[in-house]
Parts: sequence; structure tokens; C-alpha cells
Amino acid sequence: MGNLISYCDDKSDLKFRDEDNALAAKWQMSEKKVSLLRKRFNSIDREAKGFSTRGDLLSVKGLVLNPFIDRIVEIFFQKADRKEGEEKLYFSQFLETVLIFRPVKERDVNNPDKVNSRINKVRFAYRMYDLDNDGSISKDEILGVLVMMVGPHVDKEQLEEIAERAMREVDDDADNTMSFEEYAKIMERVAVEEKMSIKFLE
Ligand code: CA
Repeated sequence: MGNLISYCDDKSDLKFRDEDNALAAKWQMSEKKVSLLRKRFNSIDREAKGFSTRGDLLSVKGLVLNPFIDRIVEIFFQKADRKEGEEKLYFSQFLETVLIFRPVKERDVNNPDKVNSRINKVRFAYRMYDLDNDGSISKDEILGVLVMMVGPHVDKEQLEEIAERAMREVDDDADNTMSFEEYAKIMERVAVEEKMSIKFLE
């Protein structure tokens, strides 16, 4: 994730100033930070189209090696415009997903209306596993994620066993899927606020 926002330079671009100022007000961020993120976005948009395609995001340096790259890009593009089969991700849409990773202030941790609250961070993680985007996670999806993480060279039977066990452990209502509530419950043990925050976005 960090690779998406890591590059910045300091030359300002007046062309986007009004929109950036409006976004800064909307998200209660400094204008400078928004404009730095804008520059990063513009560098991802390789042909200066004014929007990014999946291909642009898929070729972000450093992110290419992330086993979850397809999922990350998919989650970004769930916010994108779709017209005549073409998907366009605009800066404001990009920013909305990036801001999930903003460190959250103590008073906002449990505020679901804040994009960077704990529950919204957990929701992002949940969507990473929900490979068919249907809002629930099956055992096959857990297995799919395990394969993504460790690569195809590990004994499949062993991974199936791990997926099976993981499902049994979380599936309180025994419906053979991991609901968001069940996932959120196991994530209570995880310091999501720390792990899913990027300091630069503070
Ligand atoms: Ca699913």
C-alpha cells in the first residue's frame, strides 16, 4: 500500500488547486498533503489522461511484487467510473480509498462515519479476502488468499486443511461462510489501527 503514495516532489501544480482545496476541506487535511497525493496520482496516470486505469495501478513500482496487488487494485476500482466498458479512476476516488489508511485520531476510532475508523480499516481487509466481491467469504476464498500469500508451490492439501480449520474457528453460525461480523470479531485481537495506517497520511 505504501508504494501507492511514497513518491512526491515539491513543485506545485496550479491546475488542480481549486479541486485540491475542496478535497482538503472535505477530508480535513492540509492542502499541501492533498497536493502531494495529487502529484503521486498524476505520476501513476502515465499518459496524463486525468484518470487512472487498472493497468496504471497494476504497474506501480514496488506494488507489482505485492501478492495482493489484484485485490488492492480491485478495491480501488470499485469506486471508479464505468462508462462504455471503460473504467476511470479519478483522483477524488483514489483519495477516498487511500484515506482508509490514514492514522485515526483516538476520538474517531469507533466512528463508522470516519473513512479511517477501525471498522472501515477492517472492512478493507475483509474485502481483500472476498475474491468474488459478493459480501461474504467462503472457504474457497480463504484458500485462494492462502495460495496468493504462499504461492502455488506449497502442498495444496495442507492449505486446504488450514482454510478448513480457519473457517471452523470463525464460523459461529455454521453457515460455511465467514461473515463480516465474524471476521470483525477475530480482528478484535489485531492492532488494526497501527497495522493499517500509513504515517505519511497523518
Ligand atoms: Ca465471496
